[in-house]
Amino acid sequence: MHMRSANANLFAVLRAQFPDKQDATAIETDTDLHYRWRDLDRASAMVANLFADWELPEQARVLMQVDKSVEALVLYLACLRGGYVLVPLNTAYQAAEMAYFLNDAQPSVVVCSGANMGWLSKLAFTSGVHHVLTLNDDRTGTLLDRASQHADVQVPVQRQADDLAAILYTSGTTGRSKGAMLSHGNLTSNAQVLQGYWGWRSDDVLVHALPIFHVHGLFVAIHAALLGGSSMRWMSRFEPSAAIAWMAGATVFMGVPTLYVRMLAEHSLNREAIQTMRLFISGSAPLLTETFQAWQARTGHTILERYGMSETVMLTSNPEHTDTRHGGQSMRRDGTVGFPLPGVDLRVVDNQGQMLPAGQIGGIEVRGPSVFKGYWQMPDKTQEAFTSDAWFKTGDVGLQDEHGYVRIVGRSKDLIISGGFNVYPAEVESEINAFSGVAESAVVGAPHPDFGEVGVALVVPQAGAEVNLSALKAHVKSRLANFKIPKHWVMEPDLPRNAMGKVEKNRLRERYKVLFAS
Ligand code: AMP
Repeated sequence: MHMRSANANLFAVLRAQFPDKQDATAIETDTDLHYRWRDLDRASAMVANLFADWELPEQARVLMQVDKSVEALVLYLACLRGGYVLVPLNTAYQAAEMAYFLNDAQPSVVVCSGANMGWLSKLAFTSGVHHVLTLNDDRTGTLLDRASQHADVQVPVQRQADDLAAILYTSGTTGRSKGAMLSHGNLTSNAQVLQGYWGWRSDDVLVHALPIFHVHGLFVAIHAALLGGSSMRWMSRFEPSAAIAWMAGATVFMGVPTLYVRMLAEHSLNREAIQTMRLFISGSAPLLTETFQAWQARTGHTILERYGMSETVMLTSNPEHTDTRHGGQSMRRDGTVGFPLPGVDLRVVDNQGQMLPAGQIGGIEVRGPSVFKGYWQMPDKTQEAFTSDAWFKTGDVGLQDEHGYVRIVGRSKDLIISGGFNVYPAEVESEINAFSGVAESAVVGAPHPDFGEVGVALVVPQAGAEVNLSALKAHVKSRLANFKIPKHWVMEPDLPRNAMGKVEKNRLRERYKVLFAS
């Protein structure tokens, strides 16, 4: 007898965990809308049925560039259940960038905001897209108008674990952005691991404050909540005082480091305001020690830092549980991104690809069920990204200490090679940041006729503080070998950051690339 294998469609996996009480609230928004579990199911069925009516090709891509809304989440769920491949894009992208994504992804459907319809539909039609729909953040637009004419039940299409679910374009601003192909199996396995690792419960309430065009807000946050049968409080955009106010009665928050910094600047942040909260998670960019400690002092909570990327979803995490052998102490370590998650193999290698012992800095390589299938239509880039024994080269540099905690030192392309010596910007930055009056800093490499490259330090003072540059330099010189000392220092009011709070070092490198030109 032939047994039909279980459906590996991620939507089917998520829906199986929706609570029995379908009329309970799944999502409450900051515009006071309440979505029941039943609503998420019905609305996504209608959109999937609309697309099915168009008989889109196998693995059709659905490109979405819209403001954050629950309906945008519904569109994602519709793609999953209908077997289409979602391509979510940052709303900041302009026409030239959109033309590239349209040509590269060759989507069958484009969903954009009404305000962008004019120029974007022209671009889309030129690149051969047949269906361009609008979706605004106030539940208007042609997507919902059309979908409303379709049935609100749909059986999720049969998918294998290996079938594509989404393409995430990497934020890499040097060279062409690459589309990371993630399968239903990649996303499902990671969601299930995180649900267990972070102790997700059905009575958890997640404050969802992140954008949903990125792995953090779209996959990590949403899958965990849906798979846990937990409800979400949905912020259309992050605003620090509103986020704090919304934590009353909530239990979990996920943010990039900048969100924590901004909340710390609010007087309303105190133990009482957040007394129902159990877990604060940070990732996507390094969390400064100063932020980690300030959060602990003000709230009594230890932020849990984790590490991952578009190509792999989540790879490592500090533990959720406490250390019972040591009187319930937190096991979350400042400056680390925790342990490899269950199922993830992680190794640190030198330039020749040889494995390094604990404590030594090298390139981080990983293997596991959440590692992506490759870059969309870039077989060469895919091949370059994997070793011959199928480990993915993350491009991050770091170490694993003798207790197993992983530390990220920086991106390999941010590494500075000065006079033949490796300089890890994170090490220099942490010495600079420790100096009184410094809020944060960035060290980038600039080409140099003698040394090949030297460091340029950008230093941001704390609000109202004066930083004495020569005293700062003397401090760093007393702490680090001479080849690590930046050769040029500048004070800056702030650092350029992208939407996920990452410092845009490529822009800084560009700015200083002719500084030492002979
Ligand atoms: P993205 O694909 O946009 O999510 O970017 C992934 C990159 O962000 C990783 O390769 C790391 O360089 C960086 N990243 C993510 N989480 C952390 C973290 N907790 N600490 C330091 N860097 C991180």
